[in-house]
Amino acid sequence: MNELSPVFDVHLHPIRTVISVQSLIDEMDRAGITKGVLLALDLDPDVLTTNLKLRDEIIDDLWAYSYFINPDQLLDSMIRILHTGKTSNQHVAELCNVEPGRFIGFGSVNPSREKEYVTSKLNEILALGLKGIKLIPTLQFFHPQKNKNIKHIFKYATKHNWPILIHTGKDPGPFEIPTLRHVQYSHPRYWKKIVRKANTPVIFAHLGGYGVTDDESWIDSAMEIAKTNSKVFLDTSAVTYALEDPNTVDKLRDLGFDRILFGSDHPVVHGTSMDHSKKIIENSPLLTKSEKRRILYENANKLFFG
Ligand SMILES: [Zn+2]
Repeated sequence: MNELSPVFDVHLHPIRTVISVQSLIDEMDRAGITKGVLLALDLDPDVLTTNLKLRDEIIDDLWAYSYFINPDQLLDSMIRILHTGKTSNQHVAELCNVEPGRFIGFGSVNPSREKEYVTSKLNEILALGLKGIKLIPTLQFFHPQKNKNIKHIFKYATKHNWPILIHTGKDPGPFEIPTLRHVQYSHPRYWKKIVRKANTPVIFAHLGGYGVTDDESWIDSAMEIAKTNSKVFLDTSAVTYALEDPNTVDKLRDLGFDRILFGSDHPVVHGTSMDHSKKIIENSPLLTKSEKRRILYENANKLFFG
């Protein structure tokens, strides 16, 4: 493929303590990434000390995984991840202004908070001129079908024609532990009914399931939802390597490559880079030139700019 072909990365984390604006832009330039979606993360690091019911649930889930682990140590590590990952809507909005036209900002709202808080966050996202919402059941500790604010969030997003990007699958560190209920709540199946009623684009991150390649039900569920709803997209972030597997490529081709979006998840996936992720697609013998162009740029450009 032509080196100068434009590339749109729909999944970037401008985490303040991990990457500076300049390093992010430099990395994008090095990898030839033309445009990118910057994601905020509305996380509540105090929730694991203040919400004792949630804390007990997590400790139960950790014991179910192994009697040989120390739940307190893992809880501390979870709190550290929440502190580090927290990325405000304001920060994302400021970055979008650094190189106008290059970035699209997605705000984030924690559905586990009370309704007034959720409404104020949605209004904040609107006032900041952000263009979408990121939701993450693992780190925001919610069940898509049992949460009382999801309907409200979808309604608000639909009104403003904002896509909603939903994390699916595990998360790094202690959030890799499969017996954690909030990892299981990140299965695409819990979004099926919600998405059916939704009238705004939905992007399932990580092709339906980061870190769950041993269980095909995750990607199959995301595909099934996408097949019956043309507003559903899948991004490749953190799992671009899945496109090296002929079976996965066949499955995705069955859906059609018009709704697969390139994402790198930079800088949260260790041992990889934007350039590396991009090259997996660019150099793939399994994809046609037209499929590569659609995944790397055209689909996202159409979604955000019509
Ligand atoms: Zn991510």
